Amino acid sequence: MVLFSFMEVFSLYALTFIILLSIYDEQDPYAQKRFEMVEKQIISRGIQNARVIQAMLKVPRHKFVSEGLRDSSYEDRPVPIESGQTVSQPYIVALMTELLAPAPGKKILEVGTGSGYQSAVLAETGCDLYTIEIIEPIALRARQILQNLGYDNIKFNIGDGFSGWEEHAPFDAIIVTAAPGNIPEKLIEQLNPGGRMVIPVGDVNQELKLIEKINGGTDIRNVTSVRFVPMTGESGGS
Ligand code: SAM
Repeated sequence: MVLFSFMEVFSLYALTFIILLSIYDEQDPYAQKRFEMVEKQIISRGIQNARVIQAMLKVPRHKFVSEGLRDSSYEDRPVPIESGQTVSQPYIVALMTELLAPAPGKKILEVGTGSGYQSAVLAETGCDLYTIEIIEPIALRARQILQNLGYDNIKFNIGDGFSGWEEHAPFDAIIVTAAPGNIPEKLIEQLNPGGRMVIPVGDVNQELKLIEKINGGTDIRNVTSVRFVPMTGESGGS
């Protein structure tokens, strides 16, 4: 017989309550699509972290894409934004967030702000987020959207994230959403002992890697094959 602890039962009730609230939110015409996205793309593929599920249910993904793409923004695929960049597929956003084990007060560095959607999901889990984007118009657009949505736990930087963000290091976790050819050494240096980094690595064939800094070294695990835009700047791209 499976026994649940009080906290597990409480979390399940809280999650059900949030799901019901999100479905019946008449102010939000995309609430139903968002619920279906979470049910069919996120929970059914094995994402279990309640904070991640709650964040994916809450963050209005349609607000991070252009007007003409809003109706398709909850589909099971990346969505194009400006300058040939993309908002990652919902499942990949959820998977990368879960791998970071986010929690309130955790200090997280994000390299590649993009649309700001992944940033919002991380901020929604209560962590303190530091995000860097190399393309200025994209960075400014994301900052505006995130500020309009009221996220005040995000610090923004326009620049090359290949070398991290020395001024605010070390971080409890680092997420990289563009693919370098190799793992940037500077980012490992800026991880706290016990910290985790999630990063796609490779050119044509990319692997999503989970790196844990333990016992003075690193434990590196391949999670799944992925397809991200290449990391530019010092990493080697233009
Ligand atoms: N997670 C983002 C979202 O939810 O919209 C998607 C990010 S998109 C796949 C990758 C982003 O990384 C692009 O906006 C790109 O400009 C940015 N990027 C690429 N190389 C970078 C670098 N060296 N430093 C910072 N950002 C970089």
